[in-house]
Amino acid sequence: MPRAVQFIRSVPRWLWVRSLAGRWPEIATGSFSCLQFAEVAPPPLPRPNWVRLAPRLSGICGSDLSTIACKGSPYFSPFVSTPFVLGHEVVGEIVETGSATPSNLRSGMRVVLEPALGCEVRGMETPCRPCAAGQYANCENILRGCLQGGFQTGYCASTGGGWSHASLVAHPSQVHPVPDALSDEEAVLAEPLACSLHAALKAPREKEKTLLVIGCGTIGLLLIAAYRMTGGQGRVLAVARFPHQAEMARQLGADECIGLRPPAALYQWVLERTGSLDAGGGIYQPELGKPVVLGGADAVLDCVGIGPTMDDALRLTRPGGLVLLVGMPGIPSGIDWTSAWYKELRVHGSYAYGWETLPGGRRVKTIQLALELLAASGGRLRPLVSKKLPLTEFRAAIAHAFHTEQPGNFKTVFDLRV
Ligand SMILES: [Zn+2]
Ligand SMILES: [Zn+2]
Repeated sequence: MPRAVQFIRSVPRWLWVRSLAGRWPEIATGSFSCLQFAEVAPPPLPRPNWVRLAPRLSGICGSDLSTIACKGSPYFSPFVSTPFVLGHEVVGEIVETGSATPSNLRSGMRVVLEPALGCEVRGMETPCRPCAAGQYANCENILRGCLQGGFQTGYCASTGGGWSHASLVAHPSQVHPVPDALSDEEAVLAEPLACSLHAALKAPREKEKTLLVIGCGTIGLLLIAAYRMTGGQGRVLAVARFPHQAEMARQLGADECIGLRPPAALYQWVLERTGSLDAGGGIYQPELGKPVVLGGADAVLDCVGIGPTMDDALRLTRPGGLVLLVGMPGIPSGIDWTSAWYKELRVHGSYAYGWETLPGGRRVKTIQLALELLAASGGRLRPLVSKKLPLTEFRAAIAHAFHTEQPGNFKTVFDLRV
């Protein structure tokens, strides 16, 4: 029987990994973790219009790592069904169609998966309000319909997932043909690029605006690329933890990058580059804690989602500006919310994607736009897929994905073609 990387529900294992994986990361994939490399039966097609996909490449996302390390918020635990096969960044091949599959989808086609499991996918007769508005990533029926619970493929026991030789099943609305000119390595970036596009399209676009991107992991880098590829004209500043991330951020369209600095040095760097010092802004030291900033960037996009970066984001946004939470925040600590109140900031989340209305008025599915932009990018994003490993080496692959400090390490993907 074919094998797949499954996540099982076990409270003792979850607590064990959660308490120890921070110190010993190998515990997150070890024998007593919530992961197992198991023989798995191919999931049945839930309805006759569905298709079966054999994954070709499947990426490891930051949210997968947080699931595996059991360190995220338990918020999503009611919205998954176990055991689930991980993997929601998938380029694959259609290997089976149902008796009612639309004729434009045929066996042998190369497609990317759109993982959201909203009302249309679940066969709901009447869509919920978010789905009716095209925001199916926010579907309210994720525990109903023809599937077990799960907000996405890769977290649902009925669909299978991308980290699998056992295939997965997808609704016709979830599959998008890949242009022939795109390599698998670029196509596997369509899903995370769509997440980044959804965030980038919320940011101010005018030339005189300044954006600060905190965090240059894959999502931060793709966000910078997405902003430029959709015509964003603003000045882009970026905070990158490692030199290879900073170099890539510049290549993809950041104007200037800085590495990790103590708060006062980072704040000074931002104020000097946003014209804030000339306009009366400055940095002030309260009796306790981090410096306070007057002035700042028009928008700060936090692509890390931990207490210190969210706190910096609030401090570094100008009055009335936008704080965009792109990284999953979980339950952060140590955030002083006074900035949000005093400066009347707009604090906005950005989760997944659905449909976008582009600046020119065009309506397009985000992942379709991601495929178009990848096809027009001349291979510029290809270096972001920096490591491919077979599924049998899942422990090494996940360990590699955790070690983003290694030069040249951006995204690790499973190669299911081997
Ligand atoms: Zn993801
Ligand atoms: Zn819905």
